[in-house]
Amino acid sequence: MPQYYIWTIGCQMNKAESERLGSYLEQLGYRATATTEEADLVVLNSCVVRQSAESRVINKLNALKSLKRSRPGLTLAVTGCLVNSKVDQLKKNFPYVDYFFKPGDYPEWLEKTELGQVLPQHPSPSTFVPIIQGCDNFCSFCIVPYRRGRERSRPVKEIADEVKELVHHGVKEVTLLGQNVDSYGHDLSNQPDLADLLTELNTIDGLVRIRFLTNHPKDMSTKLIEAVAYLDKVCEQINLPVQSGDNDILKAMRRGYTVERYRQLITQIRSKIPGIALSTDIIVGFPSESPRQFQQTVNLLSELRFSIVHVAAYSPRPETIASREFEDNISPAEKRERLHTIEQLQEGIAAEINAYLLGKTVEVLVEGKKKEKWQGRTRTGKLVFFNNNNDCLGRLVKIRIEKTSPWSLQGKIETNNAD
Ligand code: SF4
Repeated sequence: MPQYYIWTIGCQMNKAESERLGSYLEQLGYRATATTEEADLVVLNSCVVRQSAESRVINKLNALKSLKRSRPGLTLAVTGCLVNSKVDQLKKNFPYVDYFFKPGDYPEWLEKTELGQVLPQHPSPSTFVPIIQGCDNFCSFCIVPYRRGRERSRPVKEIADEVKELVHHGVKEVTLLGQNVDSYGHDLSNQPDLADLLTELNTIDGLVRIRFLTNHPKDMSTKLIEAVAYLDKVCEQINLPVQSGDNDILKAMRRGYTVERYRQLITQIRSKIPGIALSTDIIVGFPSESPRQFQQTVNLLSELRFSIVHVAAYSPRPETIASREFEDNISPAEKRERLHTIEQLQEGIAAEINAYLLGKTVEVLVEGKKKEKWQGRTRTGKLVFFNNNNDCLGRLVKIRIEKTSPWSLQGKIETNNAD
């Protein structure tokens, strides 16, 4: 039986696509292996959203070059956002790679099928479900629209049927994925939106929780906020990337909203959905970001107090508007310093938010084990660890929190309610 190994880097969309690609290969008679050395087929699912991610992909490709030399029978394939429209150039740069295929596309040299309909064979209780591919936004720093193309939504029925099938295989929670889930459905014939999709999925028996990411502040609707407030299975957790706390930088980023509009949106969400956990994304060191403009971002984060902040240093990406129009003129040392400032600030905020949960009881969906401890998440996405000798996988359990940190919680099981 031939063996495959998939190396994945990058966003949840890549992880979901790798999971499905693995299932697809298994249906074709392949078996997963834990190392590239044992594999007959190695697939690299790449990310180039930042220079650092691209460098890791290139290092991996270089390491595989010698493996391919020692085992010419090995098939090497690359997918993900490294694969652009200039496949001939990629073939020239990496002649030892057998196949390149676009993210979310089909490995053409294998039997053709709808990859979107290939479900994970061994799904975790919490599983990703892509609902929309691509992005139409063209934020000036972002390479995604150039690599993943324009927005393409999957029909509501197709997604609902898939979720029912996943539930049949033990899935309790789905996270709906897209580069911009707020755009979901505009390209479909009857133009359903994300709120309509959530309403439909909320009726599925056996499904316990629904999450979605990522949102775009310019596109998030009141209808969606109300759906999150009223649909019982939709979790109180929203990721709403702000990227900068300065209006001129937001304009240069072509984000389509102001800080004032973003602040209003946060107020609206918090008033409609009590207990909501909000997270955001920040880019530091965007071209010409002055110390004062950076301070605006720091001030906004201090004011809005997110549960989680994902922070990255700007790096120019090929083809993007920012790379063509602006000079990357903030030094690497300054970017590192700004990144560190935000990480430190957020560590303090997250520590305070999590400390509030000390002594409280939270409901956790158990997703697996790590270092002998069970781990799972609350509805608000908090990572919780606990000890128990029983098989808790896929169960909803009540945990009394005994220890908190900025990153996770630890506690003791109170009741192990069969769900
Ligand atoms: S919304 Fe902007 S940042 Fe997000 S994927 Fe689209 S272009 Fe990139």
